[in-house]
This record gives sequence, structure tokens and C-alpha cells, in this order.
Amino acid sequence: MPNTKYIFVTGGVTSSLGKGIIAASLAKLLQSSGFSVTIQKLDPYINVDPGTLNPYEHGECFVTNDGAETDLDLGHYERFLNIPTSQANNVTTGRIYQTVINKERRGDYLGKTVQIIPHITNEIKRRIQILGETGDYDIVITEIGGTVGDIESLPYIESVRQLKWDLGKNNAIVIHLTLIPYLAAAKELKTKPTQHSVKELMQSGVSPDILVCRTEHHIGNEIKRKLALFCNVDKEAIIESIDAETIYDVPNLMLAEGLHKVVLNKLELTAEEKPILTKWNKFLNNYKNPENTVEIGLVGKYIELQDAYKSILEALDHAGAHNRIKVNIHPIHSENLNSGNADKKLKGLQGLIVAPGFGDRGIEGKIEAVRYVREHGIPFLGICLGMQMAVIEYARNILKLKNANSTEMNISTPHPVIDIMEDQKMVTNKGGTMRLGAWDCKLNKDSKAFEIYGEEMISERHRHRYEFNNDYLQKLKDAGLRPTGFNPKTGLVEIVEIATHPWFIGVQYHPEYKSTVLNPHPLFVAFVSACLENK
Ligand code: GLN
Repeated sequence: MPNTKYIFVTGGVTSSLGKGIIAASLAKLLQSSGFSVTIQKLDPYINVDPGTLNPYEHGECFVTNDGAETDLDLGHYERFLNIPTSQANNVTTGRIYQTVINKERRGDYLGKTVQIIPHITNEIKRRIQILGETGDYDIVITEIGGTVGDIESLPYIESVRQLKWDLGKNNAIVIHLTLIPYLAAAKELKTKPTQHSVKELMQSGVSPDILVCRTEHHIGNEIKRKLALFCNVDKEAIIESIDAETIYDVPNLMLAEGLHKVVLNKLELTAEEKPILTKWNKFLNNYKNPENTVEIGLVGKYIELQDAYKSILEALDHAGAHNRIKVNIHPIHSENLNSGNADKKLKGLQGLIVAPGFGDRGIEGKIEAVRYVREHGIPFLGICLGMQMAVIEYARNILKLKNANSTEMNISTPHPVIDIMEDQKMVTNKGGTMRLGAWDCKLNKDSKAFEIYGEEMISERHRHRYEFNNDYLQKLKDAGLRPTGFNPKTGLVEIVEIATHPWFIGVQYHPEYKSTVLNPHPLFVAFVSACLENK
């Protein structure tokens, strides 16, 4: 049995404290000290995966190479660690119950009463240990979604309690992330909510080994002492996590607080080296000291919610830092955009992204945005639905195919330039049934895409049901919309370009999922630099 160590990250007091960023930052420090680390997220909701969740509910749905539709925290894990995650890195209550109920139906429980303890907790424990058992990781960090005290979290906390016991003291530790609120009127930081949240955790039999305290003001020695005393935690294991200018500062802040040292100590691990963050800090330095700025519009229907397009925003930051360009994003609501106001809303932008999406809300605004940037020579990147909108725009306005559309939006369009994929026609279930995950794409050698990627065969992640309809390929191509990337097996069009436009690329895939701090995505890098040229 591989000797993997486990770190559990729980949250208390409120949600949205940034457990994912703390987990990713700790993982980064451990990784850069020579350990192989992965991070897993356990989500206490009953959806089998977040693929069926509206972005308003849960932000972006992140997609892994192996086609899992996952929580957006997995995006942070990949961006920080620069290694891919997989299906096993995100587990929900829905999936746990589905597995247990399927086993019950098969008769695997041999007549026993199936219960939360031990059957649900055993399945949770099995899922936690799957990554460790691959032998690929020295350390697995498991982030437990939700807040301690939530009814939904109880089976997870109980599983953590049992695992700490099963694995032994130095093989599994718990980091509890809490909030130390500042009362402006009293000019005081308050520890009571943290004390209560630790008490709540202890009622479930789990005492935290480390407290990471989110705060707007430095917490100082006295507060650390108080927290240590009343929460039963070593004083050096009280870690301050002060508000940061960017999430990418957090590894350095945790390094300064010595979080990794306390962790290694408690897990009885010796690092070969101190964390080396040279490349990371080079990125940070570029990010914080831009030489230029560009204004980029992002057209979507969820723009009021910053988490809905998380990976796109992060990919733009990576690409911006790489080019030493500050990227200012201008969110534009697709529903409010039309031919009457496009000029007013889009004028002055140096580049435009039309975002992914589902359903017909706001699509006419997206099509209008594409028309505007096509006609004005403004760099354009269309992602998934954004690429489909570019095809529709070209069909309608250049080929004059009146009412051309996607059959997703209008089943009886006379010109279905985007149509449902053949293998999707018989699919009735919505969950986990799209074309998902990494697929190869072969680039035409005389394309901008080839120039950008520098190789003929690429692999990118997908999440869609509809596709470029090849019945219209020749017509669109003759009119100047060139398909330049194809799935080598199916002939599915993955990329379209306009050769006569300064920079116009639509991609059926999601390049944003593969951009990381140390490996900014070439397409975003090229797009941001084209936006600067257009300035
Ligand atoms: N709704 C479109 C499809 O299913 C695009 C999906 C997306 O943008 N991810 O093909």
C-alpha cells in the first residue's frame, strides 16, 4: 500500500473564504519542495456533477481531460499546480449515493440495511483514497465543500474522523479555514466565531491540526495565542491568511506564515528543498508590472457573476502577464446588445471574446457583437457557442442565408449551419452526455492557428452537443470563413478563421481550461498580443 499522506481542508464560519485557493497554495508550496501532490474536492450537493447546474448557482463548470464536468476549484488546482486533474478529483454526494444505491440494487449488501454509517461513509472514504492508491502522489489534499455545521457535510466530516483514525496520526491532518471578522466600531478582531466553529467540528469528533484564519487585518501574537488556547491547536499552527491583491499572492503569503513547514512537521515528512517559486514569482512580477494595457470585451449572458467565466478571466490574466500587458475586461451583457447600440457599447475595445453558453437567451446580441468586430477589424476570439455564433453571423450577413441558425436555438431554421452532432441525436439524459473532455485536432498548416500553436496536432477540451454543419463547409469556405482545424477521426470542424481579418478565430473547444500560470495558453497569448497591436 503506497504511503500517501492526506490533508483535509474544512471550512468554518462562512462560505466563500477561499478553501480552494488555500488548498491550491499549500499544494503549490509542497509541490515546489519536491513532493508530488494532487487536490480533490468533495461537494456536498446531491447533483451527480455540476454539469447540470446553472452558472448562477455554482459558477463555471470546469472540464477535465478525461471529460469530467467538475467544480471550478479544479480549475484553480490545475492553474496553480500545472498538472491535470481527473474524474477522481471531484466527488459529490450525488455520485456517492448513486454508487451506493446501484450496489444495493445489485444485491451487493447481502440483505443488510444500507445506512449513512457505514455505507455512505465507506464510499466517501474509498473515493478519498482512490487518488492515493494510484501511487502517483506523496500527498493528497482533500477539500471538503460547504461549511462545518451544514447538515450535508456531516457524512464527510465523519469520514474524515474515521480516516484520521484508520491512517494514523501522522498520516492524515485537518486544516480548518475560518474567518476572523473585524468589527470596525470596536476596532477589534473577533475570535469567537472561530472558537464556535472549531467546537462544532469537535462535536463531530474532529479536532483541527492547523487553523488558517482569513482576515482583513493582521491578527498578531495575542490573537494567535488566544486562538491556540481556546481551539486546542499549537500556536505555530495558527496561520494568518490576510486579504491579498491577487489569488496568485497566496502561495507566498502562506510561505511567509510557514504553513508548509507546520504541515510537513505534522505529517513527519522531510522536504528535500525549500519551496522554489522562481517561475511563479516571475509570473507575479510580470503580472504586477505591466508595460501596456488592453481593453477587451467579454460578451456573455452571465456576466454579472464573476465566477461564471472564471477560467476565461484567468487565462486572460496568464496571457496578459506573459505579454506584460494588463488586460482590462469589459463585461457586456449579450441580452442588452443590438444593432442600434453595438457601436456605443463596443467602440474603443481592442479585442472581443464571445463566451460559451447554452440556450437562446442573448444569442442575437452575441451575433451582433461578432458582426461588429468582423466589420471593424477588431481581434475576435469565439469560444464554443462564441464560435458557433461567428458561423451563424457569417452565414446570415455574408452568405445572405436568411434566418441561418443553430438547431439548438431554432429547430426549424431553413439553414442549420450549426446542427446537433450525429451521436447526440438519440441522447435523452442531460447529465454527463455532451461531447466532453480532450479530443485531438489537426491544424491546417497555412492557418493562423498553426502559426500560434506551432504544431500540427493539438488536443483541447470540449463541452458541447452541437457542431459546425459540414453541409455548409464549402459555401462558407468559398465566402472566406475558413475551417482550419478538424477532428482527425470525425472530420468535425474545430476552428474557423477569416484570413482577411487581422485576427478572427472561433474555436469549438475551450482553450481556457488548459491555461495555467506556468503555461499560459498560446491562443490567449496570441489574442492578447493581437489586441495590443490593434490599439
Ligand atoms: N450550446 C452549444 C452546444 O452545446 C455550445 C456549448 C458551449 O458553449 N460550451 O454545442
